[in-house]
Amino acid sequence: MRVIDANLPFGSLSRRSATNRIIVHHAEASTASPEDIQRWHVEGRGWAGAGYHFLVRKDGTVYSMRPEWAIGAHAEGSNYDSIGICFEGDYMREKMPQTQILAGRDLITMLKAKYGIETVLRHKDVLDTNCPGDNFPFEEVVGLYPNTEKEGDLIRIDIPTGTYPVYRAYRADTDDHFLTASEAEYEALPENYSREGVAFMGADRGSVVYRLYNPNAGQHHYTVNYDEASNLVKAGWTAETVTFADMRYGKPVYRVYNPNTGAHHFTADESEWSALVDAGWTNEGIAWQAAD
Ligand SMILES: [Zn+2]
Repeated sequence: MRVIDANLPFGSLSRRSATNRIIVHHAEASTASPEDIQRWHVEGRGWAGAGYHFLVRKDGTVYSMRPEWAIGAHAEGSNYDSIGICFEGDYMREKMPQTQILAGRDLITMLKAKYGIETVLRHKDVLDTNCPGDNFPFEEVVGLYPNTEKEGDLIRIDIPTGTYPVYRAYRADTDDHFLTASEAEYEALPENYSREGVAFMGADRGSVVYRLYNPNAGQHHYTVNYDEASNLVKAGWTAETVTFADMRYGKPVYRVYNPNTGAHHFTADESEWSALVDAGWTNEGIAWQAAD
């Protein structure tokens, strides 16, 4: 991932002797650039510079602000061994864009690996505050596989390690497209599914792709968006096993919609994608990224 140095000027800073925790915050402001935060902290609070080490903006841009080696000013009593990450936005009121969730997750994954950090906390876990806000999607931002705790046993996570083939099968009578990383599941599909082979490669480090099933229509749907998945479950869809995950950067898997049958289709094949759009399917953009 790319971290942009915001090049902010700092007064005197002290070196942090331990790095055991990451603490996440929101800016409590809908728009917050590195310069805004610098101004709020220097002019507003008289600090040596921006208190957070990193800022994750809504568009997914990640900035380094306070030098990573320095003691931060973001969570009183916990600055001595923690890195502070601020997320642009007011997550008492707003909903975090998916791009920002993914960028935050990448940054946290990178910092955890770099320092061997196991503890990621919200500001309110260490102080009496509502930061980073009631709507902050903590599980999604923090987890290697987000949302798994929320799901409970609703969705069984069974994702292979490394990169692996995701198979595709098709059931013509309901216009259903079936995807799975489980070769056993693929082989065991009923006869009314035609096996179409490997659709793309999955990864073991991105967002889980939820697989949902509409028993009335006999159709599956796939999404990395937890809210979309849970809304479908509320609407009567069944949440099925998660068998593959996406890459943060990779080969786009396009999502198209057939307004006649109500079916969604997902393909990493650009020529198939454009042929379907030409044939009247609705282009719904990039659903997730495949490893290959
Ligand atoms: Zn905070």
